[in-house]
Amino acid sequence: MSAQHLYVHVPFCARRCTYCDFSIAVRARVPLNEYLQALAREIARVGPVGSPATVYLGGGTPSRLGGPGVAALVRLLTLRGPVAEFTLEANPEDLTPDAARVWADVGVTRASIGAQSFDDRVLGWMHRSHDAAAIGAAVRSARAGGIRDVSLDLIFALPAALQRDLARDLERAIGCEPDHLSLYGLTVEPGTALARQVERGEWISAPDGRYEDEYLRTHEALRRAGYRFYEVSNAAREGREAIHNRAYWRLNPYLGLGPSAHSFDGVSRWWNEPAYARWVRRLERGESPVAGREIPSDAQRRLELLYLGLRTADGIAVPEPCPAELEASMRRWAAAGWAEIVDMSRGAPDRLADGVGAGPSTGSVVPGPARGTAGGRRLCLTATGWLRLDELVASI
Ligand code: SF4
Repeated sequence: MSAQHLYVHVPFCARRCTYCDFSIAVRARVPLNEYLQALAREIARVGPVGSPATVYLGGGTPSRLGGPGVAALVRLLTLRGPVAEFTLEANPEDLTPDAARVWADVGVTRASIGAQSFDDRVLGWMHRSHDAAAIGAAVRSARAGGIRDVSLDLIFALPAALQRDLARDLERAIGCEPDHLSLYGLTVEPGTALARQVERGEWISAPDGRYEDEYLRTHEALRRAGYRFYEVSNAAREGREAIHNRAYWRLNPYLGLGPSAHSFDGVSRWWNEPAYARWVRRLERGESPVAGREIPSDAQRRLELLYLGLRTADGIAVPEPCPAELEASMRRWAAAGWAEIVDMSRGAPDRLADGVGAGPSTGSVVPGPARGTAGGRRLCLTATGWLRLDELVASI
């Protein structure tokens, strides 16, 4: 299967962060040959990946493959043509000038750097493998190596007892002049080290009020610095929005390779065996690595489109004539400050993103073209609306 959007999961991490429940393989040394052999077997099963518009190496920590490891992985993909956006997730300590040069040479255009905080005490609490100084150095290395776009991940809503200074962290992050920032509220996932610490009473999770306060403060700080939230967790400078993730939000087809990777062909969805060792073994035995498959029902697709559309700044196209119940909900949300009803016949406001492709239509609401679309109305959530995203989607 060739696809417009390709994801490759690289599961290795040097150690597990306190809050992390991702599908990873903790390894002191990356078993590069074993991983690449298994990946080659998977590619042989699915066929050539063709010429995707976007490639995303996610993890885990893909940067742990180093310069030569990423170059070898890219050779396996035998991409036929240039990739418009090629993202590599990197931890700061791996992003050296040499590695950045090699990655840029093999086509990487975007480094998504796991910064999380600029406070060494907080980074230690998270069990991160880097200190604050490494973040600035990584950004400089990425730029010097020729990587066009830099994104920083930051976490907010940490336990109050940590006394994390969010304003200072945001200032430091903005000072690095990234093109893009991804913001994640800390959640306590079952089975993590953090969950055990919370159970023992060592930490108390941030209450909802703190989560909301920090989310809104982050919006304001980034807006003042020239970033626009184009999605509930993602902010970018004009024209630097990530293309790859938009494909997920619009239910465009994508191909996933590697342990735990998900794929979607426009009709059905499937996902790989999540455990690294089992994914390798299945491929060694000549078996499929696919662990599950589903065909979403029309009702599921409609709900997903609604949810995915509303999590973006472009929102959803309002069906006309609009059902009375939806009209009443929209007006209630607008009055509460949770949403805006944008009349596109008056021209799309700047808050809507450019270059939005039409989403697949499965019913009454669709994500779809924003700027440049004549007529019609769009329903777009505000920052305070995004804080209630699940509740609002469930109510219509
Ligand atoms: S670096 Fe990322 S994937 Fe690895 S343990 Fe930490 S949070 Fe999880």
